Amino acid sequence: MTYDASTHAGLRCYFDSGQTRPFEWRRAQLRGLDAFLREREHEIAAAVHADLRKPVAETWLTETAWLRSEIRFVLKRLHRWMRPKKVGVPLHYQPARAFVERDPLGVVLIIGAWNYPLQLCLAPLIGALAGGNVSVVKPSEMAPATSALLASELGRYVDPQAVRIVEGDGEASARLLEHCFDHIFFTGSRRTGQAVMQSAARHLTPVTLELGGKSPVIVTEKADLRLAARRIAWAKFLNAGQTCVAPDYLLVQEGVKEPLQGLMKEALRLYYGSDPEASADYGRIVDDRNFRRLEALLCEGSLVEGGGSNKASRYIAPTILHDVPEDSDLMKEEIFGPVLPVRSFTTLEEAVSMVRALDAPLAVYLFSRDRSELRYLIEQTRSGGVCCNDLLFQASIPGLPFGGRGMSGMGRYHGKAGFDTFTTERSVLDRGGFPDPDLRYPPYSSGRFDLLKKIVTLFS
Ligand code: NDP
Repeated sequence: MTYDASTHAGLRCYFDSGQTRPFEWRRAQLRGLDAFLREREHEIAAAVHADLRKPVAETWLTETAWLRSEIRFVLKRLHRWMRPKKVGVPLHYQPARAFVERDPLGVVLIIGAWNYPLQLCLAPLIGALAGGNVSVVKPSEMAPATSALLASELGRYVDPQAVRIVEGDGEASARLLEHCFDHIFFTGSRRTGQAVMQSAARHLTPVTLELGGKSPVIVTEKADLRLAARRIAWAKFLNAGQTCVAPDYLLVQEGVKEPLQGLMKEALRLYYGSDPEASADYGRIVDDRNFRRLEALLCEGSLVEGGGSNKASRYIAPTILHDVPEDSDLMKEEIFGPVLPVRSFTTLEEAVSMVRALDAPLAVYLFSRDRSELRYLIEQTRSGGVCCNDLLFQASIPGLPFGGRGMSGMGRYHGKAGFDTFTTERSVLDRGGFPDPDLRYPPYSSGRFDLLKKIVTLFS
């Protein structure tokens, strides 16, 4: 659909009508979204497979089931979250009632990325609907089948006057940004995030930026190596490494480097067989540009595993490289693909300084059975989130706010954090009319002023 000034005005008018405010409306939208995910599960899986060759099981786990569990979490708590919170009123302002309401923001824009094409559009939408907003959702054109499915079908399940799907490329997003939204929720790269923030500044629109970064996984000598190997190999190569919270690089303590690499190779054979290209459970790179970028990285460091590629099918083998120099391209930019550089460290302090040398990432992953090591690494590093002895699942717990820090983004969502992002605190004071002493009104005679001072000081 085309989106112009009159479309925008129409949406604002709909928001102003108050239709989206009641709890019942919000609940109906969330239930509708759930029905879409339930009834269209097979079409969704087919669309995501067409876009990314993502295995059906992964789509279920990371998109459909993930979103449905988020909806259930929100539905159970929404009524409580919407309740105004009472605030105490000092005696000299009595009689009065004071409370904080969570007010919907208005018309919000959600820009999704292609790597989890459904989740990255609909998870923010859950927060926006729970918050009672009207939403414009722009899916990525790099996942065209999912984008088309959302555009043609979602309106049958949620109020089409309150949820608009706008298809198109980056240009279409840039045009959307010319309108004045009440909030912009963006998921994507740092560079585009900066452009989004610049556009938003024109209207002083608040933004949530869900960006990427280089998330490290640190494995110490006290880790359960087999567990670490199985989990890292799974999390890194899921969706062919195109996951914002995937471990970007591995830091392993020198003494366990060889055995860990051996166990990871073993795990990869078990997951994808001796020829991952033939495995139905291994994804592909989204487009030629990203394929070329990743292929160029395969020649850095020394090969531990993988290294193969196929331009025609945009296949990059699950690849592990070690002895990767600090100043190599692999260690400069977010990899966002199935290539895992391994570097070793001797002391925890050394691992910390390697992590600190880069911008704060979305996540830090730690493997150790020693609680004091974990505590030390948590305290000495910075990131949006932390996961100990596993990976990715910090993004799956609805009670854990999700987002980046510094260059990996700003703002939070998932669960209550999503509701908070798409509502604003509104302070309400409701005063009684009696008594209404003259003390506060001019003329401020010295006697009245003295009495006023005494009363305010006494009760403050
Ligand atoms: P981009 O920044 O290129 O695109 C993200 C979205 O912005 C897409 O919908 C895109 O549209 C749109 N877009 C493109 N250009 C503009 C523009 N000028 N103005 C406004 N919107 C625009 O993201 P990538 O494809 O590079 O995605 C990968 C990045 O996203 C990685 O860095 C990854 O870590 C990060 N990411 C972060 C996540 C998080 O939750 N923190 C989750 C997933 C990814 P179109 O695609 O149609 O061109």
